[in-house]
Amino acid sequence: MSTRRQFLVGAGAALTGMAAAGRASGRLVPSGNPVDPLRIAGSGMDGLEKPLVVSTWNHGVPANAAAFEILSRGGRALDAVETGVRVCEADPSIRSVGYGGLPDREGHVTLDACIMDEKGHAGSVAFLQNIMHPISVARKVMEETPHVMLVGEGARRFAVESGFPEEDLLTESSREAWQQWLQKADYQPWAPQSDPSLQPAHDTISMLAIDRNGNLSGSCTTSGLAFKMHGRVGDSPIIGASLFVDNEVGGACATGVGEEVMKTVGSFLIVELMRQGMTPQAACREGVRRIVARNPKAGELQVGYLAIDRHGRTGAYAIQPGFQFAVQSKSGAELIDAAHWDF
Ligand code: ASP
Repeated sequence: MSTRRQFLVGAGAALTGMAAAGRASGRLVPSGNPVDPLRIAGSGMDGLEKPLVVSTWNHGVPANAAAFEILSRGGRALDAVETGVRVCEADPSIRSVGYGGLPDREGHVTLDACIMDEKGHAGSVAFLQNIMHPISVARKVMEETPHVMLVGEGARRFAVESGFPEEDLLTESSREAWQQWLQKADYQPWAPQSDPSLQPAHDTISMLAIDRNGNLSGSCTTSGLAFKMHGRVGDSPIIGASLFVDNEVGGACATGVGEEVMKTVGSFLIVELMRQGMTPQAACREGVRRIVARNPKAGELQVGYLAIDRHGRTGAYAIQPGFQFAVQSKSGAELIDAAHWDF
């Protein structure tokens, strides 16, 4: 497995421990007691200075930069994780999030997002259309309604009533990709790794931040799997699946084939494992192990997990090589290859 770190902005020694996230590839742990062996397989990373922000994939780099601007001024983690992922939602070149996201098989861009703050408050929208910033609608659901989740037409109406403009989110380039896909209409959400022409079939941005006061928040936003069935909703708006934050423990988030994340309630699982004493790295690996252990086709799909604990220790693990995560603290910004399963 190759381990690669890219120092992006004057990264210093304080981030050194994070490289461990890219080293701990592992084999299936024998059944019996999956907790103890993984506990000792942790990275042993020391806590980092706060504030800190981490997010999925290379588009996490500019997203982290926007989030860190808020954090470095002493701002709240919640504001940082909302502002950070909005950068990706507005960028038409990112074809897996927001504006410019690849549509479903009927040509509709449908968006899912969720957000969680340090008090355990949560908000979410699913199957939302024509609104560029679902993460901000999710935050409004959290802060201005008695509910956690709004979907489809109800979510759109709530957004419009809250002042969000309606926009056509299907760009020319995404329309072309869809029309090209229609020629074969071969739906293979599980196998993007083996067919680069399908990239990015998935690449959600999920983000976790810890602010100067030690408070944690997280966000997740996506256009979901490319060319999905109309009406399909993945893990990204599901609290506990794509995202979970507990200020007393840490936070976890996900990217990849959402069905696998939902069936194992991945992010909640990882936070609970950290509560029991696992490092973020070991907990992410165990999250991946649960998928690999139950799905014989796991080798054909990708799921990546990313976690931080309340001390600022970071971990990441994926089924396949190729999952990267971005980290930014006052020491600088980095893009790191996550560890992956060793089949
Ligand atoms: N997790 C997302 C979903 O299943 C896909 C992604 O990571 O982009 O909708």
